[in-house]
Amino acid sequence: MAVTRTFSIIKPDATRRNLTGAVTKMLEDAGLRVVASKRIHMTKDQAEGFYAVHKERPFFGELVEFMTSGPVVVQVLEGEDAVVRNRTIMGATNPADADDGTIRKTYAESIEANTVHGSDSEENAKIEIDFFFDENEIVG
Ligand code: UDP
Repeated sequence: MAVTRTFSIIKPDATRRNLTGAVTKMLEDAGLRVVASKRIHMTKDQAEGFYAVHKERPFFGELVEFMTSGPVVVQVLEGEDAVVRNRTIMGATNPADADDGTIRKTYAESIEANTVHGSDSEENAKIEIDFFFDENEIVG
């Protein structure tokens, strides 16, 4: 299995509860390596741009408000089959549906405030990494 990259966000509900380390440990324990990381406060423009694919969904406005409500930690993760590996440790979007031992089952507050984002395909991972990082900020 090839070593690939994915993009992750530790969301405002997690930074507010000081869970950056705890969430990162779960990612690392799942075999993912943090090869870039920065804490930012997303602007409305950034959040709207990042979630543009969801702009027709009823929850879009609230999602943008939530994602700009506090700091987030954007990360590039590397590992074998990183996209799938990350989606597995994250768990289902709605924590009520997430498997035991996943990040969302352990920490998420709601379907919206669900602690982490993770790219859903390698194609989107590239786009999302480029949205927040220059290549020279990624150190493998
Ligand atoms: N979301 C929401 N309400 C919903 C579905 C999703 O607020 O009914 C939010 C939630 O924060 C989720 C994000 O929108 O993580 C993106 O949704 P997606 O369906 O892409 O889920 P994900 O890939 O994050 O599991």
